[in-house]
Amino acid sequence: MLLSKRDAEITSRQIIHVNGIVQGVGFRPFVCKLARHYHLTGFVTNTTHGVKIEIEGEQVSLDRFFNDLKSKAPPLAQISEVTSKTIDPINDESFEISSSETQGQITTLVSPDVAVCGECLGELFDPTDRRYLYPFINCTNCGPRYTIIENIPYDRAATSMRDFTMCDSCQEEFNAPDSRRFHAQPNCCPVCGPEVKLYTGDGKEEAVSGDAIRAVVDILQRGNIAAIKGIGGFHLAVDAINDEAVARLRRRKGREEKPFAVMVGDLESAGRICYLTGASEHSLLSAECPIVLAEKKTGHSLSNKVAPGNDMFGVMLPYTPLHHLLFHNGLKALVMTSGNYSEEPICIENSDAFERLGNIADYFLVHNRDIYLRSDDSIVIQMGGQLRSVRRSRGYAPRPVSLHNDGPPLLAIGGELKNNVCLLKDKQAFISQHIGDLKNLAAYTSFQKTIDHLRLILQIEPELIVHDLHPGYLSTRWAVEQEKAATLGVQHHHAHLASCMAENAIDEPVIGLILDGTGYGSDGTIWGGEVLIGDYQNFTRYASLETMPLPGGDAAIAAPWRTAVAYLHTAFDGQLPDLPFLSLHDIGPILEMVEKKVNTPDTSSCGRFFDAVAALSGGRQTIAYEAQAAIELMQAADGRYDGEGSYSCGDITTVNGVRRIPVRPIIRSVAEDVADGKSLAVISRRFHQALIDLFAYVADRSSQETEIKTVALSGGVFQNRLLFEGLLKALNTKGLKVLTHSEIPTNDGCISLGQAMIGRHYILN
Ligand code: ZN
Ligand code: ZN
Ligand code: FE
Repeated sequence: MLLSKRDAEITSRQIIHVNGIVQGVGFRPFVCKLARHYHLTGFVTNTTHGVKIEIEGEQVSLDRFFNDLKSKAPPLAQISEVTSKTIDPINDESFEISSSETQGQITTLVSPDVAVCGECLGELFDPTDRRYLYPFINCTNCGPRYTIIENIPYDRAATSMRDFTMCDSCQEEFNAPDSRRFHAQPNCCPVCGPEVKLYTGDGKEEAVSGDAIRAVVDILQRGNIAAIKGIGGFHLAVDAINDEAVARLRRRKGREEKPFAVMVGDLESAGRICYLTGASEHSLLSAECPIVLAEKKTGHSLSNKVAPGNDMFGVMLPYTPLHHLLFHNGLKALVMTSGNYSEEPICIENSDAFERLGNIADYFLVHNRDIYLRSDDSIVIQMGGQLRSVRRSRGYAPRPVSLHNDGPPLLAIGGELKNNVCLLKDKQAFISQHIGDLKNLAAYTSFQKTIDHLRLILQIEPELIVHDLHPGYLSTRWAVEQEKAATLGVQHHHAHLASCMAENAIDEPVIGLILDGTGYGSDGTIWGGEVLIGDYQNFTRYASLETMPLPGGDAAIAAPWRTAVAYLHTAFDGQLPDLPFLSLHDIGPILEMVEKKVNTPDTSSCGRFFDAVAALSGGRQTIAYEAQAAIELMQAADGRYDGEGSYSCGDITTVNGVRRIPVRPIIRSVAEDVADGKSLAVISRRFHQALIDLFAYVADRSSQETEIKTVALSGGVFQNRLLFEGLLKALNTKGLKVLTHSEIPTNDGCISLGQAMIGRHYILN
């Protein structure tokens, strides 16, 4: 039939190359089915660059095939490029999948880890299926990838599944092109695959497989803490409804107040504890399966110790078969927080977990499929009408961000907090999983391992290493020690600006409103409330917040009251007004530091401005986690706005060519309101409005002076939804085009991308 059909029409043959995430995601079987559907002949094969298809038949059918190739690709495939060329027909008899061509340089992409798919879930709970209740069920559409891959090309021998030899049934599926498990490298079953075991805290084996899962549910229901090994690392789990149990976890983990993430069994359960938008629901159910931040519902059933003093919950749904089995066995809601002590990186190895989590967990539910690379849960939030990344890690990394321009390969190593690294290759930016705070030695080790690993699996030899300007950062020192590549230091807030431009595929200069905690400035002072004008090559500091003293540097960041005292002292020229919060503290030493300028750098930080206002108006005096004072100040105001007005800030002066946005008048106005007995809600609202008015005004003025109509918003302070949404509106009203982050975080998780783009232009020019 095929031959007669072909004979009737003009046939042609094409070579098609497909690049992107097209291996290990069911792409070849998809191509094969599609080709046969349209009665086309030829073959498909994996190459070092992706997938090669040679295909021939009637032109109409080829056109249809070509359309479907892009529009109907399997869920995990991400096509970055398709090229095709016509060649002479050779009259194949059929369409086949042929074995891989893997010589030469390998440029195919590794997929992120993916939540268990619907079909696998169906089998998991089907009593007649041979993988019934098997916690490692997976297929080409789902399961672990990035975190188990040690090398390329991506096949079983290069993953931590190499120790498990497939049984006959699994091997048969693996070899069958029409099976959902065709070349699914982590394919396994209860006969041949990994298993779970439950241990007591002192290392005694309690139960295996299904018994272990039932037992861990039981011990969790009785209020115990379990360390549970997942995809990207260990979680510490505890019943989220049990007050006493959650409190014990907080004590043992050294995490007093920072909100815990919660896992619930399904979307309905998530909707019972918080308000979910359509986009949030969609994200919860996505293959990436991140933690979604959403407003708490009053009357929710969770312990108040899950997220004390915070009006949001971080909620996620089960994403591994093991998680599903926990909820299937009767759990309602679990705290699922990263398996670490305080701010250390999460544990990924069994032995490491027993050692480091021994004083926290009562039980350990472990398995024998090794995690090669750690990857924390990702976090998203809906703000300004869009879903936005807060932490881009498991489920997303190392999927590339597409760039609008090409250039030489390089490595950018990010900032110090919320560190990740970024490798550029051609028109793609590969941003690593979240690595964390590089002051932490274990995180620094993870940083080095991640760089080596990404360079290996992406086959990138960077021509340039881009680092932060701060001479004291471990990452800066690491960069300077590398002998093979040239290095470039990039200013932190310039990187923020470039990152936002890159994410929005913009080349022309923009006005950057970079509102941030702290970053090392080009002049050696600490920046953080910046209006920069620039592009990937250059920037000028158009304006910044007036500099204020930061007594004790990092010590002030942990204790906003210190910042408040210093800001007040400056705002009132040394004559402190009598405010209630002052009586709570021993302010003498702080005043002395400020007056004598001992260990008291100047800063234009916006984050510290928030801290000062929060503490002096009776909010947070000290913090238990990053930005807590600012978060609580915002929450005090949110939703209670009723024309509270704003604070006026007086005139903008120019110092050394930089316009100084006044801080002192606002501090004085806040102090007056506090003395007047105004509520924190009113003060907070006015303060937010003042910042919105100010930065919108400065952006508008700089736009008029430069004729640049585009404003980029970046920096950790834009995680403040009140400020972010307010400024977005104000800038739009002024007719300015606003660029924001969404796919990558606005916080320092975006720094590596910005550095990389600045590095690329540095090489090219
Ligand atoms: Zn699956
Ligand atoms: Zn098997
Ligand atoms: Fe920053």
